[in-house]
Amino acid sequence: MKKIFLLLLLAFTGYTFAQAPFNTNIDGKCNHQQSFSNSFKNSTDVSYVADNYHMSFVKLDLLVNSGSTYIEGSAQINAQVLSPTLDTFYLELNQALSLDSMRFNGELMSPSFVNSELFVIVDEMTLGDEITIITYYHGSSSSGGFFSGVTSEYNYTYGKDVTWTLSEPFAARDWWPVRQNLNDKIDSVYQYYTCIDSEMVGSNGDLTDIVDNGDGTKTYKWQTNYPVSYYLMSFSVSDYMEYNVWAKPIQMDGDSVLIQNFIYNDPNCLSNHQANIDLSPSIMETFSEKYGLYPFSEEKYGNCLTELGGGMEHQTMTTIGNFGFGLNAHEMAHQWYGDNITCATWSDIWINEGFASYSEYIAEEFLHGQSNANSWMNSAHNYIMSESGGSTYVPQDEVYYGNEWRIFDGRLTYKKGAAIIHQIRYLINDDDMFFAAMQNYTDEYTSSIATGLDFKNSMEEFTGVELDSYFDQWYFGEGYPTYSIEYSFNETGLFLAVEQTTSSSTPFFDLPIEVYLNFGGGEDTTFKVPITSNLSTFQTEITEDFILMQIDPDNWLINKTGNIFVGTSTLENQMEFVVGPNPTSQYLQISFADNNMDKAISISDLSGRLVRQFSTKEGVRIDISDLNSGYYLVKATDGNETITRKILKQ
Ligand SMILES: [Zn+2]
Repeated sequence: MKKIFLLLLLAFTGYTFAQAPFNTNIDGKCNHQQSFSNSFKNSTDVSYVADNYHMSFVKLDLLVNSGSTYIEGSAQINAQVLSPTLDTFYLELNQALSLDSMRFNGELMSPSFVNSELFVIVDEMTLGDEITIITYYHGSSSSGGFFSGVTSEYNYTYGKDVTWTLSEPFAARDWWPVRQNLNDKIDSVYQYYTCIDSEMVGSNGDLTDIVDNGDGTKTYKWQTNYPVSYYLMSFSVSDYMEYNVWAKPIQMDGDSVLIQNFIYNDPNCLSNHQANIDLSPSIMETFSEKYGLYPFSEEKYGNCLTELGGGMEHQTMTTIGNFGFGLNAHEMAHQWYGDNITCATWSDIWINEGFASYSEYIAEEFLHGQSNANSWMNSAHNYIMSESGGSTYVPQDEVYYGNEWRIFDGRLTYKKGAAIIHQIRYLINDDDMFFAAMQNYTDEYTSSIATGLDFKNSMEEFTGVELDSYFDQWYFGEGYPTYSIEYSFNETGLFLAVEQTTSSSTPFFDLPIEVYLNFGGGEDTTFKVPITSNLSTFQTEITEDFILMQIDPDNWLINKTGNIFVGTSTLENQMEFVVGPNPTSQYLQISFADNNMDKAISISDLSGRLVRQFSTKEGVRIDISDLNSGYYLVKATDGNETITRKILKQ
């Protein structure tokens, strides 16, 4: 999924979007169980395994139209019981929709329908028992906003109504009775949509038939036989025309993949979008080369043009607001990462969005060249570091109805998510190995779900590069490092003292950094400096003076450069220490060149008033959020020698 920035702003300025009647944790504790106990359990003796079944088949048969969010029809679900026993069947359906009737294994049922949840008490079933449940329903559930299940809008340029669905993360229940569980993919899905003659309906998989009903309506029959997650099913309906292109990934030996586009039925719409749509085959061929063959090559890829502010990677049929290169690449890349492999929990949304966002960079790199890719990464880094903290991993207690924008945080989930994959590529330091590992991961988790740690383990096993501390610091951790270098020449050559301070709760990042030297006259060199602590030293044998020193010259890493300055220190002085961040508002990290000897530390303001005093051997991190703003002096002494640093508290 990708949204334009305007919508993000609206969300932060009080714009309201789909709100469920209760807020609860989706991943940690099944949401329905909570309301279950509140509204239903008290009055009826039922089990807590109501959703413990595998959905093997779904068939939707719905009347839809471009002018409103009204839908009417039926949903059939075939399922198998996964628990030893099951005496209650559970589904979600937005209570704004009207339930007309429900049959459970042929028998007419009267489900309890409370807080958009359906509970059907059934005769006790056992492991492996087959279920067929058919629900007839109608109505309009739209509450407006980006995360609304069904949205209807009007395009003023071409004068077209359009209605589309967007179910991620919690809104599938706005348009079909569903069990919203990321752990279970539906084996195959048939979607039959009936609309007026002049319109078309796009959906997942293959368009197997268009039936003329002889009453001014047509039925579009779509079928997919690839496993699909509940939130990746969709429809879009409008007065569309079809414009198709074909990709020829090398793995298909000359055979091709259809890229089927439903755009507004107006010649100007085609001429406005054609050049961009025509880039789609090369994007698919590039991703197929890097990640492995397009995962749904037996069916198709496609796009339905709508008024969505961005795009949504519905499986084999993206719902898209425009065909801009970055958005097109992002949504197509999702077919590998976000459709074929999906996040196992919403906390691990990185598995979808980080990889789709990094694929925008990959598309720039291999189709437009390195300098375009560099621009992409530069602006990503700037956005990431526009705030000091925040993790790409979404903490479980931040995943709930109404908090969708934390899951889809543009800075943390998308841009930092992309940049930390780029850093893994840097750590592996071998592009052939990196992309082979990506393909291996893609094969390993095909048609399945993955957590961030699943990806980590897969990459470690394939490449032999250990990533434990990397994930602690960059996936679960917050903030970024700032590097300063104090350099001098000794009898061996250039000597570097690299100081690292960090912006947030992660006290230390251990990625090695590259240092670039330009000697003038076209002479230069780049070397890697291991970062072993907040104060690392590095001895080179470079004796030639240079005119420019740069940290991370190719911009691989999320980091800032502090000061690069000539010093006299060789860090043989055991009292040498670094203190930061500077300026700071929350805490100070103090790190020493030597961690074996006792030091007395004192912090005082410029009037000499003492605000902290303690002794330590090793580096410490202290909370100074209570101090007034202003300058402070940090002194360290071993009794003989004293070193002082000045810091600014903001
Ligand atoms: Zn996305």
